[in-house]
Amino acid sequence: MDIFEPKYGVFKTSDYNLNLEERRSKYEKYKFILCKTCSNDIYIEDCYCTSCYDKETDLVKKGHMKFGPKFEFFETLDYNLDLEERRKKYMNYNNILCK
Ligand SMILES: [Zn+2]
Repeated sequence: MDIFEPKYGVFKTSDYNLNLEERRSKYEKYKFILCKTCSNDIYIEDCYCTSCYDKETDLVKKGHMKFGPKFEFFETLDYNLDLEERRKKYMNYNNILCK
């Protein structure tokens, strides 16, 4: 292993714009990942800062941290749609959260 290769990566707020797969491939080479905002350790399995996540109160921002940009809230109104319509509406999203 190259001794000049840093063993830890710094996780930036802008990384939340990547989806989980993209984050993992970006950081898998590091032994440690640190949150730039609060210096908390980030686990490669999670790929988001649990400490910042807990402090965040905005549900949209929380979803963004956990899932990346491609998530949407499932509205109560969506229960009026049949299964096909729901799939069509949400097929472009990686994650759907119950509102
Ligand atoms: Zn943090």
